[in-house]
Amino acid sequence: MHVLRDADLAAFREEARTWLEEYVPDEPRPTTHGPEVRDFDVAWQRRQYEGGWAGIDWEREYGGRGLSLRQQVIWYEELVRAGAPRDSIFDVAFGHAGPTLIMRGSEEQKQFHLPRILRGEAPWCQGFSEPDAGSDLAGLRTRGVVDGDEIVITGQKTWTSFAQYCDYGELLVRTDPDASRHRGLTWLIVDMRLPGIDIRPITSIDGHPHNCEVFYDEVRVPLANVVDRVNNGWSVAMSTLSAERGPGFLNHRLEQIRLVDQLIAHAKETGQLNDEALADRLAAARANAAALRSMAYFQIGSAKKGEQPGPETTAIRTFAVQAQQEIAWLALDILGPRAMEWVPWTRHWLAEFGATIAGGTIDIQRNIIGERVLGIPR
Ligand SMILES: Cc1cc2nc3c(=O)[nH]c(=O)nc-3n(C[C@H](O)[C@H](O)[C@H](O)COP(=O)(O)OP(=O)(O)OC[C@H]3O[C@@H](n4cnc5c(N)ncnc54)[C@H](O)[C@@H]3O)c2cc1C
Repeated sequence: MHVLRDADLAAFREEARTWLEEYVPDEPRPTTHGPEVRDFDVAWQRRQYEGGWAGIDWEREYGGRGLSLRQQVIWYEELVRAGAPRDSIFDVAFGHAGPTLIMRGSEEQKQFHLPRILRGEAPWCQGFSEPDAGSDLAGLRTRGVVDGDEIVITGQKTWTSFAQYCDYGELLVRTDPDASRHRGLTWLIVDMRLPGIDIRPITSIDGHPHNCEVFYDEVRVPLANVVDRVNNGWSVAMSTLSAERGPGFLNHRLEQIRLVDQLIAHAKETGQLNDEALADRLAAARANAAALRSMAYFQIGSAKKGEQPGPETTAIRTFAVQAQQEIAWLALDILGPRAMEWVPWTRHWLAEFGATIAGGTIDIQRNIIGERVLGIPR
């Protein structure tokens, strides 16, 4: 991608930078667990929308600005540069729920939901994994029974991140138990406040109850909430997973550079950079972060051209999560016991354990590389 090759893009970047200097929240994102988390993320998303910085490459008729992918990418680069909050309960909405609706939703679904996401009114969560269906997603058992113009949902999902704060969920359910595993599934939009939904947060290793068990007891969802069509949910879920190559995740990749730069600056200040082994690790981490940035641009570019994801997506992901974890280890090695005082780093280190599990474990990624790239037998 040739970002910043012309004056228009440079002017756009300048405009974004100036706006961010003034409007990035001064106070850090709450590390508590109450409604203040939602309030913070909603207010920040709302502020971006009002400033004209939400949905830069989403179509105008759905509340976006209808600008180019390059401008969207510039916005994410500037967000990270400005030190804007890294995480948000809107990550699912921007990362894959919104993109799935754009790719596969009906006109009514797009008209209703996309502007609500952009305006910061409706965060989304993802209800795919179940207690016995994580790596083996096609083995999911939550039932959806069509009854008139509704689908009645019964079952259990787990690890649904931020469910307690969200208005809508992207839910994958089994609507035809007699069809083969991948065929009888349906992708549904679920209002998370419906009667029969019981959300129970689980406290993770970092002390945060972000992930939730969600129980569905005869929850009645309008048939109009089916995305694409009943029993075609696997194909829609593949669109959801393919959104990982879109720009929605770029700020998470770019953030790695910022984190390593912070550590390098700290190690310089304390003289730790004279330790050759540590300097080597920092240099490698910085190079890896820069390489991952380039790979992210490559992926975004190829997704935009409509190219199907190849095994490189798996290889990049495997590399990315390991690089992320190494940064968290480096932070602890550099800070030593002081990391206990510098809470965000300790939390970051603890949270990074989940990186090799979330969205498909690293073992499964390695299986894919082994079987599809190296041709090793199953
Ligand atoms: C931080 C975090 C956030 C998450 N957020 C969400 C969310 O918002 N929504 C959602 O739907 N899900 C979410 N998940 C769930 C995530 O997608 C699953 O945890 C993941 O797919 C793994 O499934 P599992 O936990 O059931 O592990 P399992 O599939 O039971 O795997 C257990 C272990 O066995 C290994 N294993 C399993 N099968 C194989 C095999 N064939 N070959 C080799 N090894 C194998 C795995 O690698 C793993 O080490 C989240 C997970 C984490 C950690």
